[in-house]
Amino acid sequence: MTTDQLPPIKGFLETSLLDWPGHVCAVVFLPYCNLRCPYCHNHRLVLHPDTLETLSLESVLARVAARDEWIDGVCVTGGEPTIHRGLPAMLEAIHEAGLRVKLDTNGTQPEILKHLITKGLVDTVAMDVKAPLDDALYERCAGVYVPASLITSSIEVLLRSGIPAEFRCTAVPLLLKEGEIFRLAEDLRDLALQCAVSNLPKLTIQNFNPADPMDPALKDAAPFDEKVLSGIQKDVDAILDAGTGSI
Ligand code: SF4
Repeated sequence: MTTDQLPPIKGFLETSLLDWPGHVCAVVFLPYCNLRCPYCHNHRLVLHPDTLETLSLESVLARVAARDEWIDGVCVTGGEPTIHRGLPAMLEAIHEAGLRVKLDTNGTQPEILKHLITKGLVDTVAMDVKAPLDDALYERCAGVYVPASLITSSIEVLLRSGIPAEFRCTAVPLLLKEGEIFRLAEDLRDLALQCAVSNLPKLTIQNFNPADPMDPALKDAAPFDEKVLSGIQKDVDAILDAGTGSI
């Protein structure tokens, strides 16, 4: 694959302590996404990436190499990385540079996710799960119709792979009620039981940031109170612990 067939890089962070928990990583941002989550704060990258400078992978890897001793790997995020045909070649090039890869994905492309894991092109995955595994609820939170079966398949791929993984859900009170967040945790627990997985990855509930959402109707909508959110996270953890503890 030639350089011009690699996904365009539309953003780069030299050092992040947040994007790969427990690691220091560089972050590359790939454009476009097949979802339209109303709360998305990366909407310029999703809708108007042509307004952003394009960086070459070569220049990015050279900048990472200059900080080699600090960097554990590269987080590839978006947008949605898995919609790019050249993603496997990009991940291969990152590995060839001696760096590990964390992939962020929305889980809508289970076959591609499976391919990347099977080929050893990703070392860890963080998958956003928008809602309980129900078509109508998923459409409400993803902004477009997504068959929940696709998300279920990606979760199963991750669970069966044994690769280090994390699930994340952005909680917007206007879109997702507390009970629906618990329902999502129960869906994950039930899938772990079906897949006979004892090390179910954590489901992290992230608070919504109303500063600049894709849907202006959510601007200034109230996020969860931090204490309430912390209580929700504890209950989510308990649901998942109860499921995996019984295997
Ligand atoms: S928040 Fe939604 S729309 Fe934005 S990049 Fe992620 S999956 Fe795509």
